[in-house]
Amino acid sequence: MKYEAVIGLEVHVHLATRSKLFCSCPTTFGVEPNQNVCEVCAGMPGVLPVLNEKAVEYAARLGFAVDCTINNDSVFARKNYFYPDLPKGYQISQFEKPICEHGHLNITVDGQTKRIGITRIHLEDDAGKNIHSAVDNVSYVDLNRAGVPLVEIVSEPDMRSAEEAVAYLKALHAIVTHLGVSDGNMEEGSFRCDANVSIRPVGQEAFGTRTELKNLNSFRHVQKAIEYEIARQQDELEDGNAIVQETRLFDSAKGITLPMRSKEEAQDYRYFPEPDLLPVHIDPEKLEAWRASLPELPEARLNRFIQEWQIPAADAETLIADPALCAFFEASVAAWSPQQARKIANFILGPLLRAINQDGVTLDRVAMTPAQLAELARIVDSGLISTKIAHDIFPDLLKDGGSPEEYVKQKGLAQVSDTSAIDSVVLAVIAENPAEVEAFRGGKTKLMAFFVGQVMRRMKGRANPAVVNEALSRHLNA
Ligand code: ADP
Ligand code: MG
Ligand code: ZN
Repeated sequence: MKYEAVIGLEVHVHLATRSKLFCSCPTTFGVEPNQNVCEVCAGMPGVLPVLNEKAVEYAARLGFAVDCTINNDSVFARKNYFYPDLPKGYQISQFEKPICEHGHLNITVDGQTKRIGITRIHLEDDAGKNIHSAVDNVSYVDLNRAGVPLVEIVSEPDMRSAEEAVAYLKALHAIVTHLGVSDGNMEEGSFRCDANVSIRPVGQEAFGTRTELKNLNSFRHVQKAIEYEIARQQDELEDGNAIVQETRLFDSAKGITLPMRSKEEAQDYRYFPEPDLLPVHIDPEKLEAWRASLPELPEARLNRFIQEWQIPAADAETLIADPALCAFFEASVAAWSPQQARKIANFILGPLLRAINQDGVTLDRVAMTPAQLAELARIVDSGLISTKIAHDIFPDLLKDGGSPEEYVKQKGLAQVSDTSAIDSVVLAVIAENPAEVEAFRGGKTKLMAFFVGQVMRRMKGRANPAVVNEALSRHLNA
C-alpha cells in the first residue's frame, strides 16, 4: 500500500514588542530569572490586564503579509489548564474570534510553487519556564517569559512532505523577520513549531489520525521529526495497528519521536471569553495605515533579486533568509550598480558570510560599510587587485573599515598588469623548467596550470592572471 503524508503546522512566534502583552514588564531575553515580573504577569489575584497595542499592530501586519482577513473586532478567551509555569491558571488566548483568518502563503519545492492555507492567526500570552536542575535536584520556575506576546499561526493541513513543511516554515520565518515583528530566533524560542502529521492511503480523501510533534527547535529537527513520524505511522499501519491521537516529543539526539501525553480536546480547556478585557476593536483607518506601510515582502524581494539582478536562486534564498544581510547587500548594490549585483553578492555570500558564520561577526558591529564592500568588488572588477588578494584582505577591511583602494595602494598590493614585467618572469620560469617545457610542447597541455602557479608564486599572487596566461601561451608555443 502506498501512503501519502498530511501535515499541518502550528507556529508560535514571539512578537518583538518592548513590553509584555498585558503589563509593562520588559521582554528582554537572557536576563537573571524572575527579573521581568510584576503582579500582572505573576498572576496575583485582583490585578487587571491592559492590552499592548503594538502587539495588535504586529499581529495585523503579519496577517496582511499572508493575505489574511483582519477582523476589526476580535475577542480574548481564557484557556484553562494547570502547570507550574502558568501562575494565572489560564492562558489568555483567542478562540472563537481570532485577529486574523483565511490567509495563505506560497512555497516552492523542487521548482514547483504551491499555496499553503493559513487557517488563523491569534494573539496570546506566553507561559513562564520550568528549570529542572540536575545539580541540586530541584525544579525552579522562571516567569520572565510569562506574558510575552505571541502569535500562533495555524496552517491548513496542506503540506504533503517534510520538505514542504520546512519550506513553509522558512517562508513564514522570512516574513516575520522582514516585517520586523519578531527576531525569529529559534534557539531562544522566539519561533517555535508543532507539527501535526498523519498518513492516508494514496487516493483516499479522508484524513488519517494525526499525532502532534513537539520540541522542534530548528529547521533540521522539523525535517527529521516529520520524516521519522511518517515512517513510524506507516510501520504501525502495516503491522495492523491503529494510530493513536497523541502528542509526541522529538528526541533530537536519537532522531525519534516518543509519546508524551494523550491529545487534549478544546473542551478540556473550558475556553470562555476573557472577562477582564474588552473585545479588541481596531479602527479601520489605523488598520489601513498598517497595511499601507508594509515593506516589500520576501517573496517579491527574492524574485527581484533573481529576475532583475540575475542572482542565482540558491544565492538569493540565502540572502533572503537574513534581513540584515539583505539590507547590507542592497546598500552595497546601491553604492555601485544593479548591473553589478552578482559580483557584490559573491562578496556578501563568500567572505562576509564566512566571517559571520565562522567568527561570529555581527553586521551591526563591522567597520566596513556597504559602500566599501562595493568599492572592493569594483577594484577587483577593474583589475586593480585579484579576487584572491581581495579575499585575503577582507577580514582586515571588515574589522577596520576604510577605503579598500587606499589600503591596497598603501600595502603595495595592486595587481601587476604590465606585460614586460610579467614577460621577464615568464621567461625565467621557462628557462628553469626545461623538462616541463618539453613535456608541454610534446602535448601535455595540462602543465599550463603548473607554469601559471610558478609565475604567480614569484609575483606573490599579484600578477594579472589574464596577462600571465597570454604571456605563457606566447612563449611556450613559440
Ligand atoms: P489543536 O489545538 O487541537 O492542535 P489546532 O486547530 O490548533 O488544533 O491545530 C490543528 C493543526 O493540525 C492544524 O495545523 C491542522 O492543519 C492540522 N491538522 C488537522 N487535522 C490533521 C490531520 N488529519 N493530519 C495532519 N494535520 C492535521
Ligand atoms: Mg495543536
Ligand atoms: Zn509584568
